This record gives sequence, C-alpha cells and structure tokens, in this order.
Amino acid sequence: MNNNYEFLLNDISKLKNIGKKTSNILRKKNINNIFDLLWRLPQSFTDRTNLVKVKDLHIGKISTLEIIPIKYNFPRVRNLPNKVHCRDDTGDIDCVFFNSYEGYIKKILPLNEKVTISGKINHFKKKYQITNPTYVSKDKSIISKVHSKYSLTEGITEKKYNFIINQILQKLPNLSEWLEPNIANMFKNISWKDSIIKLHNYKNIGNYNSNFYKRLVFDEILSSLLIFSEIKKSIKKIKKNKKTFFNKFTKSSINNFGFKLTNDQIKALKEINLDLSSKSKMFRILQGDVGSGKTIVALLSALNVVESGYQVAFMAPTEILARQHFNLAKKIIPKNIAIDLITSKTKKNKKNEILLELKNSKTKIIFGTHSLFQKKTIFNKLGYIIIDEQHKFGVKQRKSLSDKGGIDCDILLMSATPIPRTLTMTIYGDMDLSVIKEKPMNRKEILTFSKPDEKINDVLNFVKKEINNGNQIFWVCPLIDESKKIDHKSAMETYNFLSNLFPKKVEIIHSKVDQEKKEIILKNFLHKKFDILVSTTIIEVGIDFPNANVIVIENSNKFGLSQLHQLRGRIGRGSVQGKCILMFKNNLSENAKKRIKILKSSNDGFKISEEDMKLRGFGDLLGFKQSGEKKFNLADPILHEDLFKIAETEVKRIEKTEKNLSKYKTLIKLYDKADIIYDLA
Ligand code: ADP
Ligand code: MG
Repeated sequence: MNNNYEFLLNDISKLKNIGKKTSNILRKKNINNIFDLLWRLPQSFTDRTNLVKVKDLHIGKISTLEIIPIKYNFPRVRNLPNKVHCRDDTGDIDCVFFNSYEGYIKKILPLNEKVTISGKINHFKKKYQITNPTYVSKDKSIISKVHSKYSLTEGITEKKYNFIINQILQKLPNLSEWLEPNIANMFKNISWKDSIIKLHNYKNIGNYNSNFYKRLVFDEILSSLLIFSEIKKSIKKIKKNKKTFFNKFTKSSINNFGFKLTNDQIKALKEINLDLSSKSKMFRILQGDVGSGKTIVALLSALNVVESGYQVAFMAPTEILARQHFNLAKKIIPKNIAIDLITSKTKKNKKNEILLELKNSKTKIIFGTHSLFQKKTIFNKLGYIIIDEQHKFGVKQRKSLSDKGGIDCDILLMSATPIPRTLTMTIYGDMDLSVIKEKPMNRKEILTFSKPDEKINDVLNFVKKEINNGNQIFWVCPLIDESKKIDHKSAMETYNFLSNLFPKKVEIIHSKVDQEKKEIILKNFLHKKFDILVSTTIIEVGIDFPNANVIVIENSNKFGLSQLHQLRGRIGRGSVQGKCILMFKNNLSENAKKRIKILKSSNDGFKISEEDMKLRGFGDLLGFKQSGEKKFNLADPILHEDLFKIAETEVKRIEKTEKNLSKYKTLIKLYDKADIIYDLA
C-alpha cells in the first residue's frame, strides 16, 4: 500500500507546470495545500465532446471544432488584439487574443496544422470568432470530453484549474483504510481515494446521499472528534493538586442571593465542584441561554476554590459586565473574603495596591476584563480562571488558555450561545460540558410581537406608554451591509427620528463609538438617566438591565433566529413583563415568516438554535461564523446527525480499546487543520 499522504499536504506549486503565482492566488482563498483543494466541488460541467463545423456554429454557444490556422494578423497598435485566421472545410473563423504574446500564439496555433479549439462563439463584422479560446490543443482527446466546471478564482483560468484538479486526481495516493470493517461496510467499502474521485466527477454533482459522499462526511466528523478527544486526553493528563473544600460558604451565599437555585444550576455546580476536587485539571464549558443564571453558579464554585486556599480570576468581555459580576459577588460573598475589581479607570496608585494584594494573596477573587492576563498581574496562588461569554475564542486560543495559570489552575468558560448537541460536539469537543436549560422559576417568558413598518405609530404609542410607566426600551437597527461594519446610517436615522419624538430621552451606541464612551452610555442607561437606547447589535448580551423590558428590533428579517433570541434576552431580567417587537418591511419571504413564528412560539434557546440551523445552515449561527472556527467542508451537524452519533460511539470505542492512534495517523494528519497537537509516535 502506498501510504504517501504527504503528497496531499504539498503546496499547489509542487504540481507540474504550476507556479508560485497560482499557489499564492489560491492561498488568499485559504487553500494552502493540495488537500484543501479537494473540497472545492465542481458546480456544473461543460460538454465539449461534440465537434462542430464552422457552417453549423451558433453565436453564444460553447463549441469545439477542428480548424487549420492559415494567417497571423498581429497589429502593432496598442489595445488591438492579435488575431489568427483559421478555417475548416466549411468556412472561416478567427481566433482572437487579448494579452497574449505572439510567440505563444504561434506555438499553440502553428500555421497549416490541424488544431482543436474550444470556446464561446461570437461574431465581429459578420465573421465568426472565438475570443481567448478556453482550450487549444493539437491533441483532440484532451479537449473533446465533458469538463467539470468549478467556480473560478480570479487569475486562474478554467483550463488551468482543470489541469490542476486532473493532475491531483491522477496522483491521489492509495491510503491504508482507517475505518473499521463494520463502519467501512456502511459505505459499501468504498475507499477514500475512490470517494474523492467520485466527488469530482460531474456525474455526481449533488449526489449527497451516495456512499462515497457519506464516507467522506464521516471521515471529517471522525477526525474532528478524534482530535478533540486527544486534546481532552492531553489536558486530563495534567495532574494538579486537588482542591479540598466542604462547601463552607455556599449556604450563606445562596441565602444572600435571595433565590433558590434551579435544578440545572445545582447539577452544573455539582459537576464543577467534582472537577475542582479531582486530580485532573478542569477544562469545562458552562453553556446556558441568556438569563439562565450562570454567574451565580460560577461564583459559588469560586468560593470553594477560595476555601481550598487558592485565588480566582473572573474575566468578563467588558468592564461594565465585570463590574456587574463584582457587585453581585459583593452582595452574596461573606465579608471576610476579600474581592476586588480592576478596570481601565482604576487609578494607578489604586491599581498598584490591588496588584500587591493579589501578589500577597490577600485578595481572593479578582474581577476584570481580559486585561487581567497581563504580565504585571501576579497571583500568589491562582487556582481558577472563569471566563464569561467566551464564544469569540477558537480552539487554538482555548488550548493556550488551558496552559495559562499553571498546572493547578482549573478553567471554566461560560457561553450564552445555546446550540444543538452535535454542534457543541464539533465546536467545544475539547471541553467537558455542563448545560443549564431551565430558566429561573420567577422568570416570565418574553412576549414577542411582529409589526410591519407602516404600523410604526402603534409601536411609538406603545413605547410612550411604557416610558410613562417607568420602563426602558432597547431599539435595535441592523447593519445595512454586514461586510462594512462601520455602516451605522440606519441607527443614526432612527436615533434622530426618536430624539425628535422623545427629546432628551434617547441615546445611541454603534461601532464607531469608542469603548469607553460606550461603557458610559450603558452605565447611564443602567442608572435610568435616559429611556431609549438605540443601537446596532453591538451591545453585549450579558449585562442585566432590570428596568429595560422592551426591545424593538427593526428590519428583523435581516437577523438570524438565534441572534434575535439573544437580542431579546437583553430584556426581561427584572420583574416586569418583557416585550419584544419585531418590525419588518412588507413582503416577507416564507422563510422569514417561519422564523418569526418560531420566535413567537418559543423562548427556548436550544430549540431555537436547532430550528435556525435547519433554516440557515450551521455556518450562519451566531458566534460560529465570527469565531473563525474551522468549518466542515462536507459535514453538517443537522443533516448528518446520524453520522455524528456513530462517530461519537466509534471515538469512545477507540478511546477504550486502542492503545495509540497510529491507525488514524493519516486521517488526523490530513484533517487536522488547526494543527493542534499532532505529533504521533
Ligand atoms: P446568564 O446565564 O445570562 O449569565 P445571569 O447569571 O446574568 O445569567 O442571571 C440572569 C439573572 O437571573 C440575574 O439577575 C440573576 O441574579 C438571576 N438569577 C440567576 N439565578 C436565579 C435563580 N435561581 N432564581 C432567580 N433568579 C436568578
Ligand atoms: Mg452572563
């Protein structure tokens, strides 16, 4: 067996007659090696089998014909094309070349020799011509066949692209099978190599249910789960000093909190405590819908870490959020435990003081943003890092995070992006998972309404009433153009419009407002200095605004389901009924109507994200796109849920029964994009 998978990891320029220029063009499209190119599938095909005579040509049709060049016409005038007059036994046709050298043209179209050409027929001054023919060759068989058609990248011609692909397909190595017989059998034992060849055959375009396709999907899932399993193992191997505690501070803190924990909160807390007191380093994600109450769980676990003699770093994405966590902690944590907060506004002297107290272990829990991770911040005995709202991290960043803080440091990430289990497996498979599904008992479901734009007056009357009742309003405007993050025109217009109606009661934040100013505005909103906050989607979701109970979302059909759900999660944290108004322009698509219906009928983020994936594909899910996380080429966590389950079982079997992963070395080497750990013996 030829096991030379290394060929696939070569740069494209290693192929015959392909240079650095082409490989650089592809590199810009994130195609770094031959393997990456395998996953750009043919979109259609062009049939060049039928040879036609000049007399039978049709304008605009892609045609293949055999002709004889009879005269060159190379004008010495700039911008005029070079021409070659050609003919067959039925008529004349010109080959027209822009930007081609005479020498090259003479080489491919030598006078008085039969040549096959293929391209789109046009005419000029009543004469047929082919401009920049796609194919020219003396070898008819190269041209006269069905050509797979790929979406082309600027700078690479169809001919060149097919030349690359055909070369690769011809040189594909035979790889030893990594699938177990029972699994390979599910796909009728088709090999990896044959599957790839089929994948690129124009006859199989759209053939997603075939064995070859599913086999490749399975390979992708299996490799991803195996890689995660390995990372997990490598983290579990780290032996730490276990933390010893007796939940000394838990009860009084829950009393101070004033609410009973939900069953899911209790369960999550138990799982975390178990990790803390074990000998392996914790690397866990706490996942729960907005408002499900993750913070209190994290704080209670932090108290156990303090009890066991360690310090805790609690990080939030913004200062206002860090402060909110800090305030909650002050409220519930026993007074004899010193806690502190570092922000960018902390005065230098005070900061030095705080850092000193951290260093000498007087401060037990420190709150702050990511800036807590600075060289200057020295802990005496850091044992626990908690990171809130982390969905902006990728696998590699998480890995480096797990290395931070030293061996004894447990790590808890919190994410408010509820996603289906198969997706969790593919994004967070390197971590252990705790999930809070249940909402706190006192929480009222947010009522969701939809209103067409022309009913704006109804909405404004409603808003007026809410303000008179002492409530606050979020008003969200979408970015007009997602690709230009600076586009805040619609938000500005809305702001001007609302300011006229509600003078001195409206403020705005958008991406051009700098972070510091943003935080001030948010703080003023929190303290009820004004009533309506207009924004694009940029406001962080984690902040509690107890008085904000209404959110108006303009042009709501521009947002995905999960995003709308997260947006409305900003309200309804207090005791007043939360209300979400989805505004839309008329002529909603069927799909958009469906989305609105789902939102109206459910407040369950997990369910909503699943529906969202079904409607939009997982790549568009909130947070996933931005995270820079590798996407699958073929696999889809919703469509291939069954294969995910089989792969999960298979990985568990491998973990149990296979001593090492040598059998999967090729699979992992090829598919491990992030190149996370692989150094298999
Ligand atoms: P998230 O999971 O979005 O971070 P938070 O931790 O911010 O949620 O909690 C949202 C709100 O719910 C907070 O005001 C918090 O005090 C409250 N809360 C949390 N747990 C409970 C509970 N068991 N019962 C009642 N309210 C709770
Ligand atoms: Mg939160």
